[in-house]
Amino acid sequence: MTELQALAARIGACRLCPRLVDWREEAARNPPARFRGEGYWAKPISGFGDPAAWLLVVGLAPAAHGGNRTGRVFTGDRSGDFLFASLHRTGFANQALSRDLEDGLELTGVFVTAAARCAPPDNRPTREEFATCRPWLEREIALLPNLEVAVALGGLAWDELHRALGTRPVAKFGHGAESAAGGLRLLASYHVSQQNTFTGRLTESMLDGVFSRALTFRAPS
Ligand code: SF4
Repeated sequence: MTELQALAARIGACRLCPRLVDWREEAARNPPARFRGEGYWAKPISGFGDPAAWLLVVGLAPAAHGGNRTGRVFTGDRSGDFLFASLHRTGFANQALSRDLEDGLELTGVFVTAAARCAPPDNRPTREEFATCRPWLEREIALLPNLEVAVALGGLAWDELHRALGTRPVAKFGHGAESAAGGLRLLASYHVSQQNTFTGRLTESMLDGVFSRALTFRAPS
């Protein structure tokens, strides 16, 4: 077992936030009709991707009926569809499809994770829950020795990413904002939530543009 796999096992057993433990398990007990009869993961989500990644993508938290259902970050919901389609267009993913653990998705050069690992009510962890969960992100980052660039999806992830790297944002969050911390170049994107993608606040070309910008920072190998 690799250190990343061992860490994933520890994350998967975490029950430190009572409110989020209740929420993730309640979602599994009362799924919407379209997911009735499916076995839910209903545990914390660890990051997914290439252990040799140079690019880190940090989302907010798993969706109650997305990652919390399938057991993989950004998998099984519209947000993930939007994200992985962009990673496919920009050369980081072998396919756009992200449906479940058996869908064949493979990432190259990128590791996708989240600031909080349990599905929160209203998609919003509390400040205390973010702080309790932060060590998991810090440990994942420590186990990804080739990281050069990180993309935060949304303002909360932007702030949490900086905190996990031991600093505060020097640039105000906004789509395309750039910063640096912990030896990494940091880029911001609006979150891939349906609230943004359905309204056109975040378009495919805007997200592709952030990953294309990340590619310009990659050190020549
Ligand atoms: S949000 Fe993080 S710290 Fe809280 S229970 Fe889930 S994995 Fe543990």
